[in-house]
Amino acid sequence: MLEEDKAITFDQLRAEELRLRYLEMIDRPDVYPTRANWDFITRHAMLGLGPALYRKYLAALSYDEDDREELHQAAVDCFPDYLRAVPRPYAARTIYADLSTAPEAARALIEQCRLFDAPAIMELLDEGRLDDAMLAVDAYQDSYTAADIAHMHTLRDRLLSLPALGSQEQRRNLMGIASLRFICPEGHTNDPDEQYCTRCGKDIYGLTATQNARIDIFMRRLQALDNLTTSAQ
Ligand SMILES: [Zn+2]
Repeated sequence: MLEEDKAITFDQLRAEELRLRYLEMIDRPDVYPTRANWDFITRHAMLGLGPALYRKYLAALSYDEDDREELHQAAVDCFPDYLRAVPRPYAARTIYADLSTAPEAARALIEQCRLFDAPAIMELLDEGRLDDAMLAVDAYQDSYTAADIAHMHTLRDRLLSLPALGSQEQRRNLMGIASLRFICPEGHTNDPDEQYCTRCGKDIYGLTATQNARIDIFMRRLQALDNLTTSAQ
């Protein structure tokens, strides 16, 4: 209910009408917002459009740069600005909700718009989506509250105690001779001294060398934040 001394202004009403129209429009797969539409949507930081705009962005991005029409290029250019305009939690939810359609594009957006989100990453870990979690682990935020840093410490502990998905096992060869083998999470058999599977590149926790390097960046970042926290006291 509207409070007695408050009134909805013409501008608010107009923006809401347009938001509803945009929502209807961009739900149609063949229709793309114009640059003027994007500008309006972003200037008003319109909520509720994020997932549909993200789908437009990914569809536009899937065209080869030379084949992109102006409306496609507008989506590619303007969607990151929209993400920066809306409240951070909304922007993060929009992207983290779909990391699998185009993982590298999602990673680029998270990096570009500084959408690191420790709780969201821990949710991915809870769901066993290790690869998705590793897309975002080395991204930044614009700023870090004490609560953000506390979440990062929890994430750090989670990363340090990841369950082993592969194993070290005694295996017998055709001659019946047993030897220790590293069985990767995908079930490939390796020499025991291999850290990473020679076929799929995963270590015993299911992490590749690239992903471990990203975790390393995260750990160092948390150390830097801890240093800044201490020196600010
Ligand atoms: Zn493997």
